[in-house]
Amino acid sequence: MRMTVLASGSKGNSTVIASAETRVLVDAGLSCRELMKRMVLANEDPAALDAILITHEHVDHVAGLSVLARRLRIPVYFTQPTHRAWVRQMTPRTTMTYSKWLDHVQKEKQARAELEALETIDPAGGSPTALQFAASADPQDDDALEATIKRDPASLPAVQYFQPGTSFRIGDLTIAPFTTPHDAADPCGFVFESATESIRMAIATDLGYVPPNVRAALKRIDVLLLESNHDLEMLKDGPYPWAVKQRVLSRVGHLSNHATAEFLTRDYDGNATFIVLGHLSETNNVPELALLSAEEAIRERGKLLGNRVLLAHQSQPLPSICL
Ligand SMILES: [Zn+2]
Ligand SMILES: [Zn+2]
Repeated sequence: MRMTVLASGSKGNSTVIASAETRVLVDAGLSCRELMKRMVLANEDPAALDAILITHEHVDHVAGLSVLARRLRIPVYFTQPTHRAWVRQMTPRTTMTYSKWLDHVQKEKQARAELEALETIDPAGGSPTALQFAASADPQDDDALEATIKRDPASLPAVQYFQPGTSFRIGDLTIAPFTTPHDAADPCGFVFESATESIRMAIATDLGYVPPNVRAALKRIDVLLLESNHDLEMLKDGPYPWAVKQRVLSRVGHLSNHATAEFLTRDYDGNATFIVLGHLSETNNVPELALLSAEEAIRERGKLLGNRVLLAHQSQPLPSICL
């Protein structure tokens, strides 16, 4: 199995998870162009991706989603509330006259009907072969692609729903989504397990604290991408307005270096070969500080084999981790 973090941080997140037969992209938080560039840089073939999975609708996780999914013509997996929130986010709001409004409602109705025709609601999972694909413009034709996105920004080649707490499969990958405490519609993290290799990889970023369900989900993980967002002192003394500081610090904000260290000391089972620290704030953290804090926490756990701590970057892909 392989994990390639293409980008991680408050300005964009995206990670490739690959098993023997299946490749998925978790989040698409950079522009399509940048994501394609980074995949090539990291030796990940974009054309080999089978699906895109979305953790939540914040822009640092979906910025390039619409364009990338259409270009690659691959299905996007969301929870239903996350998909709804994303559609709302993508639908431009303008003041309009009554006749324009009537026209708009009619168009929305049509778009909804088309969207519903595309959706396959199957909470227990199912294979992507069951999906219906929309006939879209030639993916090579950039102008046509841009035009269709402008016309209908929230339409995707195919949408598949999953539910946190219920595992589903894509090819030979079993995916166990778990709810995370974060200020989005229905945020989640993922545990990936390959049917043939019994290796488990997990992504847990964008969470205000580590609740029992996340602690339970993160057992027996071989490669763990874990948030280490901010240094508490830097955030408190930093330039963010008080309201934003409150949000980040809240139970539905982001994990501090301290909270991550606390998890690693108290609740982590010491099983991982690699712990990748991610979603670092560029304003309120220093990579060395996050690394030191996590390494110290691991050291306190006594002698543990493996447990190499790596830092994921915002500006460049991390070399693939293969197990
Ligand atoms: Zn978020
Ligand atoms: Zn985020």
